[in-house]
Parts: sequence; structure tokens; C-alpha cells
Amino acid sequence: MLIRSGDTVEVRTGNAKGTRAKVLQVLPEKNGRRRIVVEGVNRVYRHIRRSQKNPQGGRLSKEMPIDASNVLVVCTACGRPSRLGAKVAADGGKSRVCKKCGADLGAVRRPRATKRAGA
Ligand SMILES: [Zn+2]
Repeated sequence: MLIRSGDTVEVRTGNAKGTRAKVLQVLPEKNGRRRIVVEGVNRVYRHIRRSQKNPQGGRLSKEMPIDASNVLVVCTACGRPSRLGAKVAADGGKSRVCKKCGADLGAVRRPRATKRAGA
């Protein structure tokens, strides 16, 4: 998956459709589902029981993860929500590319330190 935390994404479906917000967390893939936590999207209230630590109890607002397929990354170059491609350089480094304008959106893998044997 090419979404990284800190990216700005546009939500394409559900209650928050059309919202642009920052990715707070990218969760490890589980059962083939790639999930992310987006700031202010899919908020739920957790009700906290009164306790020593929390004498008042109360409600805690918290974002729950959404499926990564429901968002598109907003390209920093053209400002449009776009799918991402990956470009692999000859040195083994990999970078993300906006599918709409072709802009390079930064490296996601560093170049290999050593040259590949053979070839
Ligand atoms: Zn773009």
C-alpha cells in the first residue's frame, strides 16, 4: 500500500464523503484488508466508566480505522485526489507517482546499498 501516515487523503464514500484530512495511522494489513485512521473521520464515542483515574467518567471521542480503498491520496503537486503508482528506479529505490499528473510524491523505499550480483 502506498498510503503513508501524514498524507492528506480525500474520503470517497460513507458519512465523511468528500472530506479531506490527514492520515494519522496506517495499520498493518489484516485478512487482506488495508486499514487507515484518518483525522476526524469515523469518530466514535467511547464511554468511560468512573474510576480512580477518571473520577468523572465520560465520553472519549476517538477515530476508528477505515478501509484504505475508501480514500484517495490528494496529490501535493496538482491538488487532485488521485490513485498512486510506484516507480522503481534502477538503483532499487521506489517512489510514488501521481496517476493524474505524474508528479513524484516522494520515496517509499531507499535505494539498495549494494549492487545486485550478476545480471
Ligand atoms: Zn498530481
